[in-house]
Amino acid sequence: FARLKDGLSKSTSRLTEGISGIFTKRKLDDEALEELEELLIRADLGPTTAARMTAGLARTRFGKEVTPQEVREYLAGEVQKLVEPVARPLVIEPARRPHVILLVGVNGTGKTTTIGKLARQLREEGKTVWMAAGDTFRAAAVSQLKVWGERTGCPVIAKDTGADAAGLAFEALEKARAAGADVLLIDTAGRLQNKTGLMEELRKIVRVIKKLDPEAPHTTLLTLDATTGQNAHSQVEVFKEMVAINGLVLTKLDGSARGGVLVALAEKFGLPVHAIGVGEGVYDLRPFDARQFARALVG
Ligand code: GDP
Repeated sequence: FARLKDGLSKSTSRLTEGISGIFTKRKLDDEALEELEELLIRADLGPTTAARMTAGLARTRFGKEVTPQEVREYLAGEVQKLVEPVARPLVIEPARRPHVILLVGVNGTGKTTTIGKLARQLREEGKTVWMAAGDTFRAAAVSQLKVWGERTGCPVIAKDTGADAAGLAFEALEKARAAGADVLLIDTAGRLQNKTGLMEELRKIVRVIKKLDPEAPHTTLLTLDATTGQNAHSQVEVFKEMVAINGLVLTKLDGSARGGVLVALAEKFGLPVHAIGVGEGVYDLRPFDARQFARALVG
């Protein structure tokens, strides 16, 4: 919680100071509401959410004097209500052997790191985890995953750069299945500058692994870097067109995070947020807790 709170401190202090500026010794009038709405939009909560929250406050308090503390409490409650439906932990289905998790996302958003953290977590739950270095485009991604494999004691299936990612994923699933693994984590490329190429590659991976297990991948996780703010929206749109995303991981909520974007994403897409990244270390992946997040964000 401390990490998250620190990470969100910029968003939080901007919001908290803004609220204090608007509401100190002042009645809740149209001007104050307008300022509050603007503040929420600037904090990346999105225009729909900002308008709804402001209207909700006006319904009960219009014309009355409100304290910054009351406004913060109201907002924290609303944020919590909004993100609660998407705060859903990742469930590994034991009947799947293995449960296949495909990680997609733009380069640098934290795919490989998230795979390492997930592997560590699942290993500690006693599960056997295999990894596939499906970002065959970048040598650094392959070697980074190998390092995570060593750290967590999980086998990594990798090939030389330039190898066919779908072929690698197929082989990894065959091997993981033969070994009776519980989970297979598949890394992928994220070079959005070649959108068509990336789409073909991701779709081919999905098509090919379905030959072995028609229901795989069981989870397709999109990693989003929380510091990119509104950019995250277009990334969801782009990747949703490529593959069937059914979960999100918001990374870097410890950095100069623009945490408000998570609220807007929850409102707009309703995709489960399975985990949040709060650091670069192997232990820095947490389940997404709606109440903690709301308290950390609004202060
Ligand atoms: P990929 O290109 O999507 O595989 O991204 P990487 O996993 O290589 O991560 C890119 C950078 O972000 C690396 O330097 C990671 O250490 C860093 N990173 C990933 N997740 C987090 C996080 O939750 N917090 C912080 N502070 N850094 C992170």
